[in-house]
Amino acid sequence: MNRIHAPKGTKDLFHPDIAKWQFLEEKIHAYYTRFLYREIRTPIFEHSELFIKGTGSETEVVQKEMYTFKDKALRSITLRPENTPPVVRAALEHNLFHEMFPLRFYYIGPMFRYDKPQKGRYRQFHQFGAEVFGDPSPEVDAEVIYSARGFLEEIKVPGIELHVNSVGCRTCRPPYLALLQDAASAAAGSLCDDCKRKIDTNPLRIFDCKVPECGEASSGFPTITDHLCAECHDHFATVRGCLDTLGVGYAVNPRLVRGLDYYTKTAFEITSTQLGAQDSLLGGGRYNNLIQELGGPDIPGVGFAAGMERIVLHLEALPGREAKSILIAYQTADHRLEAMRLAAALWDRGVAAYVEYNANNMKKQFRQGNRIGAAFTFILGEDEIKTGTVSIKDMEAHEQTKIKREALDQWLKQNL
Ligand code: AMP
Repeated sequence: MNRIHAPKGTKDLFHPDIAKWQFLEEKIHAYYTRFLYREIRTPIFEHSELFIKGTGSETEVVQKEMYTFKDKALRSITLRPENTPPVVRAALEHNLFHEMFPLRFYYIGPMFRYDKPQKGRYRQFHQFGAEVFGDPSPEVDAEVIYSARGFLEEIKVPGIELHVNSVGCRTCRPPYLALLQDAASAAAGSLCDDCKRKIDTNPLRIFDCKVPECGEASSGFPTITDHLCAECHDHFATVRGCLDTLGVGYAVNPRLVRGLDYYTKTAFEITSTQLGAQDSLLGGGRYNNLIQELGGPDIPGVGFAAGMERIVLHLEALPGREAKSILIAYQTADHRLEAMRLAAALWDRGVAAYVEYNANNMKKQFRQGNRIGAAFTFILGEDEIKTGTVSIKDMEAHEQTKIKREALDQWLKQNL
């Protein structure tokens, strides 16, 4: 029979690499608690409408990359390709806007996009992200950027570069887009088919195209930074001023546009010089209309999402988190039950213990102890059981002692 493989673009995660994931997840929890963000967990699937409205029907993500299917009741369901619309939906659904203001969330979890799999690009990948709802001030944009960059620095991701831009708002973007469309139409002959299509649907995304001819053509296009309204201009100036004050290194990149439609004003991205083609570690920005567009009040938002696979690639190999463990070895099958009772006494005390039930001799059990890296072996034989004792072998020092069962707690305290 043919073996069943994992679907293309997905990955199994296990020891020893899983230690990097556990490290990263623990760091995220600790770090974002420092900024007074609270964790939010939303479902992995949502009604497709949430992303069509939220992420934007003209985005690449919605047009080409969503895992959408009909459930048994013929509802259109989508595996979440990103988590900002779900977090907004959850906050609206549970009236969280009334609880604490501004609302600050962080999340960690898998996302799904029907992308072309390659190094750093998967169909199931993981993001962590943060969202702040209800604060229109540019200072909060700078704080979000500061936290994102600071996190990568704290876990020592090398070669990071921060790019910032402003993508304008409902006032200044439409007239700018008209200018951009004119410039792109005039240069249509040198654009790829995909970019030709984007002229009418999503001209900003032409800046994102990796085809060299498109890059060359778009280098002469007008950029939004030169066409911001006074409010967006001032907002962006304050964001940069805050970053300067906080000593955050950044580059203004007027061609930075994000793949998601909802950004207004600040947009940012952190890339790594060590990642090759898929160099984006995280991206985010302000989205002042999204909450309203999803049926909520007129509340602004700002946030980012980071790709965890790409961060993990940078982490050094980490030692496993396994605690010091104890093998409980028994002399004959008659003592196996007693070994299990002793293991249970250890588990109940929070100690990692292992019994090899399938071994009929001590040698085999010791071999198994080596495999699990046991620090100590507790040996139970006729004599130990009769005298209420346990023999303890220190596997590293190769020393053996015998203790009374009553002295077990004392021994654990001293040795683990
Ligand atoms: P986005 O949600 O598109 O703004 O992406 C935010 C971050 O998620 C990117 O900077 C990447 O690090 C990561 N990312 C996006 N798509 C993928 C993917 N298909 N595979 C792995 N990481 C991804």
